[in-house]
Amino acid sequence: MVSSKKKNRQALSQKAEEAENLFKELMKTQGYRCTRERITVLKEIYESDSHLDADEIFVRLKKKGVSISRATVYHTLDLLFKFHLVNKIDLGHKHTHYEKSHGVNNHLHIICEQCDRVVEVHSDKLNEILEKLCEKNGFMLGSFSLQVFAKCREEADHHHCSKSLNNDPRHKE
Ligand SMILES: [Zn+2]
Ligand SMILES: [Zn+2]
Ligand SMILES: [Zn+2]
Repeated sequence: MVSSKKKNRQALSQKAEEAENLFKELMKTQGYRCTRERITVLKEIYESDSHLDADEIFVRLKKKGVSISRATVYHTLDLLFKFHLVNKIDLGHKHTHYEKSHGVNNHLHIICEQCDRVVEVHSDKLNEILEKLCEKNGFMLGSFSLQVFAKCREEADHHHCSKSLNNDPRHKE
């Protein structure tokens, strides 16, 4: 018997493997050098469930003893975005955040303006609405990753949603 959690994890690691193979293939066919550093950037993103920024990825890799430059991290992220292997997300910070996109369903990010808490929401209804909106305007819905800025209930009810709730402590400002 395999638990659903385990199955889920297996599915995820399978997607990560697929993404890695796609990345290698695309680099090869488009004339980019397939370096180990570039692969580690992809892996870092696919192993994570949060929305990382370039610096965060750089620091994480450094901690793991990967010898990589900031410039390579930035360049690799551009490449991954170009190949549709990552999404860019605006969390209202001064920098861009990234998340894996291969094998990930379209979703909405609800972001607390106060404490930076991010919740991901998958909604068939939202999908339908966007599909219709696109159709109406002569488009066919592709992928999306949406951001909504809000106040988490903690703040609305008690005015004490605070940075301590922050799931991304590096971003205290
Ligand atoms: Zn940030
Ligand atoms: Zn909050
Ligand atoms: Zn997300």
